[in-house]
Amino acid sequence: MALREIRILGDELLRKKSREVTEINDKIRETLSDMQETMLKNDGVGIAAPQIGILKRMIVVMKTEKEILKLINPEIVEMSGEAVDYEGCLSVKKKSVKVKRPTKIKVRAQDEYGNKLEFVAEDFFARVICHEVDHLEGILIVDKEV
Ligand SMILES: [Zn+2]
Repeated sequence: MALREIRILGDELLRKKSREVTEINDKIRETLSDMQETMLKNDGVGIAAPQIGILKRMIVVMKTEKEILKLINPEIVEMSGEAVDYEGCLSVKKKSVKVKRPTKIKVRAQDEYGNKLEFVAEDFFARVICHEVDHLEGILIVDKEV
């Protein structure tokens, strides 16, 4: 595992759309481990691959202190509810932004071994996933400030 440098607002790469992961291999798993380490070291609750300069559809999200999910090709297939709350971002230093998010989402993804996952996330955890999936589209919280 290795710590990676986090790209900061203003970096053009953060604005690009990430590509689907078509082959899940050791390199992908290593990248996910690096993402996890970098997230934890920076006290984040989520991180997306573009934040470490990789334009691939991968995110790491903290469900609880003890449960961290590594998601490949995540898709939000259903959403409901609406809530506005403050969010921070490892790429947007020292700024919290109010963002509107759904309160409940259904997510489809693959794990780091290619197994298909489908689950429902609510409230804060749903917010974290929506935030990270936005990164894969080149969207940052500053675009969504309400
Ligand atoms: Zn972010």
